[in-house]
Amino acid sequence: MSEFNSKIVAQKCQKLADEISAIVKFDRDLYNAFASIDREVFVPKSFKHQAYKLDPLPISQNQWISSPLTVAKMTLALEISKDVDSVLEIGCGSGYQAAILSKLIRRVFTVERIEPLLLEAKKCFKMLGISNIHARFDDGQKGWRDYAPYDRILLSASVKKIPETLLEQLAENGVLAAPIETGSKQVITQFIKTKSGIRVRNLEECLFVPILNGISR
Ligand code: SAH
Repeated sequence: MSEFNSKIVAQKCQKLADEISAIVKFDRDLYNAFASIDREVFVPKSFKHQAYKLDPLPISQNQWISSPLTVAKMTLALEISKDVDSVLEIGCGSGYQAAILSKLIRRVFTVERIEPLLLEAKKCFKMLGISNIHARFDDGQKGWRDYAPYDRILLSASVKKIPETLLEQLAENGVLAAPIETGSKQVITQFIKTKSGIRVRNLEECLFVPILNGISR
């Protein structure tokens, strides 16, 4: 990319970060993450002109890249502090959410059940020079045992109930955030693992595709 073009991209990302932060309040680190990750890279060619808008957009395989606003809200629900070292995301999709997390947390693990999506996401990480995201093709409901426990776990697809395996793979004092289906609604819900059990906090309504069973090649 020419110097001129990369300047324009930087300006567009910064404008997007400004727009998100005008709606959802967040700190400098998250602002910088949005300002430094080019969302256009994760958006299919036919939607490139909408890459810097606050909307979710269709990607391949009937899936969606989340709205940047939703990405901000889910990231905030994780309550990331300086001592957080690892995060596991279930539902890599385009990879945009994982890329934002990679600017805030040293080790990012992400699992996707649709192989072509995962391969595309990996290409995007490479294109952006991101080397701290580890991506796996699997049914994420099983988590990723090899690197557990995780300080944070994020579900990027909705569930009625958090799979027990994921709660087992959450570190003590860890936070898991997920869209939980309740009736016809979904609510961003925070689960904090304490010595005496799991503390649950409902945050706000949201809309995600559901978690599905098994893998698809
Ligand atoms: N985080 C994504 C948006 C995810 S959309 C982004 O930033 O673009 C939800 C994703 O969850 C889809 O790609 C879907 O295939 C995936 N998914 C659904 N069920 C899953 C499962 N059991 N394991 C892993 N991924 C799953």
